Amino acid sequence: MMKCDVITLFPEMIRPVLAQSMLKRAQEKGLLDVRVHDLRDFTEDKHRTADDHPYGGGAGMVLKPEPIFRAVDAIRAGGEPVRLILTSPQGRPFTQQLAFEFSQEPRRLVFICGRYEGVDERVREGLDLEEVSIGDYVLTGGELPALVMMDSAVRWVPGVLGDPGSAKEDSFAGTLLDYPHYTRPATFRGLNIPEVLMSGNHEAIRNWRRKQALLNTIKKRPDLLGKLDCTEEDRRILKELNQERK
Ligand code: SAM
Repeated sequence: MMKCDVITLFPEMIRPVLAQSMLKRAQEKGLLDVRVHDLRDFTEDKHRTADDHPYGGGAGMVLKPEPIFRAVDAIRAGGEPVRLILTSPQGRPFTQQLAFEFSQEPRRLVFICGRYEGVDERVREGLDLEEVSIGDYVLTGGELPALVMMDSAVRWVPGVLGDPGSAKEDSFAGTLLDYPHYTRPATFRGLNIPEVLMSGNHEAIRNWRRKQALLNTIKKRPDLLGKLDCTEEDRRILKELNQERK
């Protein structure tokens, strides 16, 4: 079971997504537990203020430290160990590897969602947290990153996907991108599916898929090939591909 908490100014950005599809089913099966915390519930003034102007001037607002610390204290008071994650474009890149790691995490994963110019720096200084980024671009808040990370991680929790093999064959699960997938009809607008997929020859299909995964990676993400731990079969396929190109 993966256990998560999301601390956010916009809980309604999170809840509807959790109520759909795989994230919903994972919760129903008892494989995912998510608690969404409204940052304003941890403010103490009558206007429920969670942000303020930056010291030193400048544009934008900054999330105040007190409500965030109080929210974390409240979660910790539950007694379960926590792993604190600050969503941040400055963080360590989120990868399939980290998704897997999160899925195996016995502690509660607590996602802190920044907003505006971000969080008061003392959140970084005073909480033992790790910063994680979902890519080299800037979003308006940490809600989508928190959802992205939970969605990607939960796929690795045993029992969440109908076929446990499918996560292992996805792009990035190994080094290669995924192979192409086809479903019915066999002919669509003059486009046919590769014959081998109808051959019933499992070895030939496995071979074809590996070759296509290699080809996909060569075409779309050649940078990944450097990390590939080549098997004998890969070497043979790469040679074959080279000859075909000539
Ligand atoms: N001024 C901040 C900076 O340049 O580092 C960016 C603040 S951003 C507009 C507001 C919040 O969105 C961040 O505090 C963070 O929680 C979230 N965020 C934005 N881009 C993100 C990314 N690529 N990955 C993870 N979180 C992100």
